[in-house]
Amino acid sequence: MKKDDCIFCKIANGEIPSNTIYEDEKFRVILDLGPATKGHALILPKDHYNDLTELPDETASDVMKLAKKLTIQMKEKLNADGLNVVQNNGAAAGQTVMHYHLHLIPRYENDGAHILWEPTKPSQEELAAVRDTITG
Ligand code: AMP
Ligand code: ZN
Repeated sequence: MKKDDCIFCKIANGEIPSNTIYEDEKFRVILDLGPATKGHALILPKDHYNDLTELPDETASDVMKLAKKLTIQMKEKLNADGLNVVQNNGAAAGQTVMHYHLHLIPRYENDGAHILWEPTKPSQEELAAVRDTITG
């Protein structure tokens, strides 16, 4: 399941070179070309899925196991103080490459990277209404 005009399909399957830090039969993990911090990496499935909603359950499970393993390895080898796991779904969420990928972003004290959001202050009623919308 590859998509002809997809750059991450080509990278994941080795048709375009990349700085690969891990590879198995289902995934390639590469260094991001525009890293937020030193070591910023992307887990790419070798098969094409647009986003999380299309990922088979088994692949979704395998991605998280791999993210855990690499988080431990990268924190240790890079001497990072923390690591953000980020994954964007859809242009509105900031997804720019429409081939599912999971960001692993090592964090260092005072690294100045901008990854978090500005918290808002909804009322209890507004939160309850959202809860009912999602669960109803
Ligand atoms: P997203 O905004 O979640 O779709 O993230 C796409 C990421 O892919 C960005 O962090 C880009 O810097 C990165 N990126 C785009 N093209 C390449 C490429 N050819 N090799 C490595 N990383 C890339
Ligand atoms: Zn693809």
